[in-house]
Amino acid sequence: MLGVLKKNGFRPVADIRLAEVIIINTCGFIQPARRESRKAIRRALNAKRRDPAKNVIVAGCFVERDRESLMAEFPEVDAWTGVTDFHRIDRLVKGLSINESSGTFLYDHRSPRIITTGPSWAYVKISEGCAHRCAFCAIPIIKGPYKSRPVASVLHEARNLASLGIRELDLVSHDSTWYRRDKGERDGLSRLLEALTKVRGLPWIRFLYGYPGEINDRLLEVMSDAKICRYLDLPFQHSHAAVIKAMKRGIDGPRALELLGKIRRKLPGVAIRTSLIVGFPGEGQKEFENLKEFVREARFNHLGVFTYSPERDTPAWPLGDPVSSQEKEARRRELMEIQAGISREIIGSYVGRKIKVIIEGASPKKGVAFRGRARFQAPEVDGIVELSCPEEPSGAFQPIVTAEIVSAGTYDLKGKVVR
Ligand code: SF4
Repeated sequence: MLGVLKKNGFRPVADIRLAEVIIINTCGFIQPARRESRKAIRRALNAKRRDPAKNVIVAGCFVERDRESLMAEFPEVDAWTGVTDFHRIDRLVKGLSINESSGTFLYDHRSPRIITTGPSWAYVKISEGCAHRCAFCAIPIIKGPYKSRPVASVLHEARNLASLGIRELDLVSHDSTWYRRDKGERDGLSRLLEALTKVRGLPWIRFLYGYPGEINDRLLEVMSDAKICRYLDLPFQHSHAAVIKAMKRGIDGPRALELLGKIRRKLPGVAIRTSLIVGFPGEGQKEFENLKEFVREARFNHLGVFTYSPERDTPAWPLGDPVSSQEKEARRRELMEIQAGISREIIGSYVGRKIKVIIEGASPKKGVAFRGRARFQAPEVDGIVELSCPEEPSGAFQPIVTAEIVSAGTYDLKGKVVR
């Protein structure tokens, strides 16, 4: 949207008081995201009350899902659009109406884009929608079936980004491992990664959100290329066989541990992130103990734990929400405590070592020059590396530096630039 607006002569401003038009891109995936979106709409409408000349436009997943009830709740909003017309947002800003398109919008290399993630790394979306039907998930309802971008379009964008100085590409989608399967092609992600390794100027390539059952030998072989970060984001969601079955996910704890063993044998040093859901209907104490044991055995580098949020129209909706929110939160905390110990041990082992760090920008913290990430840390979800620079940085900005790690906390590292 930012790219389209810029191309049409609009200028983004960070201060809501200066904006003539306020656009809120909502998320409607789970309850906390909807709460956050509602808060942002209320804030925008407060600004409009103070200055009625402002226009408020609400877009995105939440609108796609609950347009009518949102329209009734916030009648002062000037325009609404779901997930199909981001490329025509300029028309809404100009006060023009649009006939809504069918199908989720998926950009390509011709779409104007503003990189908001900083000078050295960028997300690249390779598909929209999802081919799976996990019982708890509203994404297929909101975003529709899986739709891949053409390989040539992703490569074109990757070359553009590299020419702008981007050094790390983070491929995102709801399931990267399904890439091109909707077009009847096998090993689409492996072939895309291979092609990306040939793009000049991209030494860090990472993909996020893989479906555990889709990890195959070909993909692991491709991942041994030095340009591909040895990093896998594989949401296992749970370990107990009955819960996994009720979630309509394919891989339970024993099979997950087998898969992790194979990945670690084939890709020594690989960092693995997973996400888990606690409090899914049917998760009693026995099932939760199983999950705790799984977390202890799996020794993930990074873990995200979500409390179950029942979502209307999903296959799990009729199961209700039998686990209380206090209990879910207690289970979430318990898992994160186990993980904190594992994480401290794993990242503590980097102290004294020299590693490559990609610089995300200057740090506002006293005594810290830069904030960056190691190859085993994905942006925004994992820890960071705080870097001091013993000498004044000289010459051109180096997006990737070598740093000696001097200390480690639970999730973050501290180091000094050595080159
Ligand atoms: S694979 Fe991910 S996006 Fe797709 S249905 Fe399952 S949880 Fe949702």
